[in-house]
Order: sequence, then structure tokens, then C-alpha cells
Amino acid sequence: MQDSEFRPMRRSSLDGEPDMGIHDSILDSIGNTPLVRLNRVIDGLDAEILVKVEYLNPSGSIKDRIAVRMINEAEREGRLKPGYTIVEATTGNTGASLCFVGAAKGYKLRMFCPKLTASPERVQIMRMFGAEIEVVDTEELLQMTEMKDSSAHGVVIEVIPRQKCLELEQSDPTVWWARQFSNPYNVIAHREGTGQEILQDTGGHLDAFIASVGTGGTLLGVAQALKAAKPEIQIHAVEPAAVPHLKSGLKDIPIIPGINDGILLDIVREQITDSIISVTDQEAINMAHRMAKQEGLFCGMSSGANVLAAIQVAKEIGRGARVVTVLPDNRYRYTSLEKYTT
Ligand code: PMP
Repeated sequence: MQDSEFRPMRRSSLDGEPDMGIHDSILDSIGNTPLVRLNRVIDGLDAEILVKVEYLNPSGSIKDRIAVRMINEAEREGRLKPGYTIVEATTGNTGASLCFVGAAKGYKLRMFCPKLTASPERVQIMRMFGAEIEVVDTEELLQMTEMKDSSAHGVVIEVIPRQKCLELEQSDPTVWWARQFSNPYNVIAHREGTGQEILQDTGGHLDAFIASVGTGGTLLGVAQALKAAKPEIQIHAVEPAAVPHLKSGLKDIPIIPGINDGILLDIVREQITDSIISVTDQEAINMAHRMAKQEGLFCGMSSGANVLAAIQVAKEIGRGARVVTVLPDNRYRYTSLEKYTT
């Protein structure tokens, strides 16, 4: 068989123009998610809560946006080459997205997941994309930070997994560590993608944006885009009440350079937030349940927290407020473990 016979067939329409409805790869379908008005969970509130349904990204979470951008830029800069292994420390969503994009591009994948958040669904998703998974015991860390076995925040829970990534990167030149917590393309993906889409979808008519903070990439990137177009916009961060790191100004956790500094510190330094709202596990879970039953939106716990906080902010702004937030991931990721994880 001739070599040319193995090439994928690229069809054109009859006049020779490329077919506009065909994607070259599933990766081209990331982003451009719908912005949807909530109708029933707002309990008659005279305000609009609009949610960007990020779980409709192809692998099921907002992290597809940053995974494809971080990988594309690393390739462009020559730091990631064919045959290399992509590694990351992840509570689940970034790992799943890196594995999804990495699989589509043919990379080897190795993910380090904290035991606390390594639900069977999350581990299975990454394995099914072909990744090797190491579940890392985080008991010692939990005791150190007095974190309870409840909601989880990546900035602390991923410390030991991140150290493992660093060791691998230093010992093997064919390893590329995505470093989601400090990779500038995490923020840029949201500034140029999510944030611009929100401006287009709303025609710039919105009063506030709210997001749960894990790495902080969503909040900082979207805030930068919205503030550039509309300096008076309000920005509110949300985090689990059990682990209020941002609220403490990150003073309650040991910041290890190159391990858990990065975007979160930028958020504190740039003072982009009008407020930091704490939501308890149970409140987040209850709202996620209501979102499914009353809106048909099958979203995870951080989405529930975002919606609760958005309603609170809309009440404070008053009649006619328009508040936008994101639904980061879908509920399928939590069928065995209902946890508010950022
Ligand atoms: N919600 C969920 C379910 C997440 O997985 C994450 C990130 N791990 C976030 C919210 C926070 O997003 P970001 O990292 O952009 O702050």
C-alpha cells in the first residue's frame, strides 16, 4: 500500500471550498459554551443569574480550555515534543482534560491525584484516556493544615502530588509538567476565551462575575477580560467554607515557591476581588441537587456554590442585577463522592 493511502481523507464541498461544518479534531470543539438564564432556583428574585455551561466542553469540564491552550503553547515553545510524557497534580478535572487533549495528540500521560479527591469516576476517566494514575496519600498534609475530610482546595491538597511532578520533571527531560497553578496560559485561556465569550454573549451588559477558586485561573482570566471592557464590574471569589485560604490572604498555608504560589498569589496581590464568599459543603451540594431537579442542569458541587454566591451578590446589587457565573463540571464526576472540590 502506498504511504498516501494512509492519510486521512479531507473532503471538500463541490466547489472546492473546505466543508465548514467539519472539525479537524475534537479539540476544535472546546469553548463557545452556552450562557443560560436560571429560572426556578432563583425563587422569584428580580435579577438575572446567567450560567456559562462549561460542563458541555467535550471532556466534561471547563479545564478543557486550559489543557488545550497550555499544551499548544508548550508545543509551540518546543518544551513538549512527540514521545514526551505529560504530568500533572490534579484533584480531577485538569487531569481529565489534560488526558483528553493528550490522548487526541498522542502523548503519554501520568497523573498524580490526592487520595482525598481520587473518586473512582475521576480515576477511571483518566485511565480510559490511557493515563497512568498514582493516588497520593495526603493524610499527613491534612493534619498539618487541620483540613477536615470534607471539601478540598487544590492549593493545599495537591502539594505532595506537585512535588512528585517536580521530581519527575527534573529527572527526565522527556517529561513536561503542565503546572496549572502557575502556568500563565491557564489565565490567558480564560482571558481570551471564557471572558471574551461572556462579553460577546451579554453584549457587555452584566454587573458582576463570580467563580469558585481552585488555581484561580478562571477568576483571574475572566476578571481581566471583563475589567478591561468594563472597569466598574464586580468580581467575587467563592471558596469552600472549610478551607478559606483566599479569605485568609493565604496566610494560613505554607506557600512553597514553585509548588503552591502562582495565580492565587496574583489574585491576592492584584486585589481584583470585591469580596470572597464562603460556601459550606452542604449548601453547595443542596444547590447542585436543585440545579438538576429544577433547572435540568446536571452540574457538580462547585457549580452549586457558584450559583448560591451569584444569588447572594444579585440580592446585594438589587433589582434588575445581572450576574454571571460558570458551571465548571458535570455531576457524573461525583456519583460516588459528593464533595465540594476546587
Ligand atoms: N470547580 C471545579 C470542580 C474544579 O475542578 C476547579 C479547578 N480544580 C474549580 C472549580 C476552580 O477553577 P480554577 O482552577 O480555574 O480556579
